[in-house]
Amino acid sequence: MLISNCRIRGREGFYDVEYENGKFTSIESHREERKGGYDAEGNMMMPPFVEPHIHLDCVLTAGIPHYNMSGTLFEGITTWHEYKTTQPLVVSEIKERARTALRLMAEYGVQFVRTHVDVTEVSFQGVQALEELKEEMKGIIEIQTVAFPQNGILSCKGGKELMRRAMDMGVTCVGGIPHYEYTREYGLESIRFIFDLAEQYDACVDVHCDENDDEQSRCLEALAVTALERGWGRRTVAAHTCAMGSYNDAYCSKLFRLLKDSQINFNSCPTESIHLQGRIDSFPKRRGITRIKELTHEGMNVALGQDSIADPWYPIGVGNLLRVLEMGIHVAQMTGYEDLSHCLDLISVNGAKNLCLDQEYGIEVGKDANFILLGGKDDVEVVRFQSPVILSVHNGQTIVEKIPAKVSVKF
Ligand SMILES: [Zn+2]
Repeated sequence: MLISNCRIRGREGFYDVEYENGKFTSIESHREERKGGYDAEGNMMMPPFVEPHIHLDCVLTAGIPHYNMSGTLFEGITTWHEYKTTQPLVVSEIKERARTALRLMAEYGVQFVRTHVDVTEVSFQGVQALEELKEEMKGIIEIQTVAFPQNGILSCKGGKELMRRAMDMGVTCVGGIPHYEYTREYGLESIRFIFDLAEQYDACVDVHCDENDDEQSRCLEALAVTALERGWGRRTVAAHTCAMGSYNDAYCSKLFRLLKDSQINFNSCPTESIHLQGRIDSFPKRRGITRIKELTHEGMNVALGQDSIADPWYPIGVGNLLRVLEMGIHVAQMTGYEDLSHCLDLISVNGAKNLCLDQEYGIEVGKDANFILLGGKDDVEVVRFQSPVILSVHNGQTIVEKIPAKVSVKF
């Protein structure tokens, strides 16, 4: 298959790109005489978007049994608990909701997804549903699952056993929620347990960490030092780290040394955090997001994710990472030209690092033919116009094709 006359993100000029049997076979400068295939009309090809943080077991449940009226994280957790205890959770129903969400994400250019799944929901229907879906979606959208102890590991009866059971069922990564454990000591013990489990199952670690506005919430330093000492940094993601937005600069400058040495990755969900955090503040009201710009400028890897699609924590969300990115660069003040000119990294290559993708990611001969074609010429134009994804190809198969609406303005 030939895609002719495309830009390729990060390169000058126009290209003709060919792929065969699911791999890129040729990338050459565009020649007018090349005919056939798909005419990209100068639009931009890039590796697909990566959704590094979503909860597919919870999507599309907003309003059942009731909406989150305060908009806080903790009412989200209690509403989800009510959902779990009043709605019979059934594998087929969870899969149907998750599949609907995956179709939305695919429409917006996502081909790789890391989803958390609540393992303190003891029927394990969510784990079963997402493990089945992970297998069924292979070759279309690649899914990694994370054993997520919503009610804690030490603070939930049988929490350690539930985590082990999920890993035995084939869950990809080990999760955690140390800041939500009853005490700091429980939080620290949970971190040691998380890495013990990761070593035992040779799995990546992806932990909800300091998702609050408490400047004393400092699980991140424990997560980073454990990752450093066990040589697990590149395979570790610290998600949210909202409290870092409230840390004092003296502590942060000390902390950054450890974070860099540890080589851990970060995930931030700016639409979710700007919605959930700062709720207990009067004015001035904090933004409740981690230091995305400062971490990035210090050379650390930060990827943006959606977290929720119409669930008890966030009632909006359609799977569109460009919308998340737009919010993220505003809230993090990454709207200077230098940041803006490569802002798509935050929802593409940086997410690929979080998911430890390799052969399947990048526009290079020999790599898997995974790409999207965006209606635009560069990062600034794409984020400014919220450009549509006009083509999404995974393993050489077209999974989404969109014909943008034609609009004529009559003046
Ligand atoms: Zn989350």
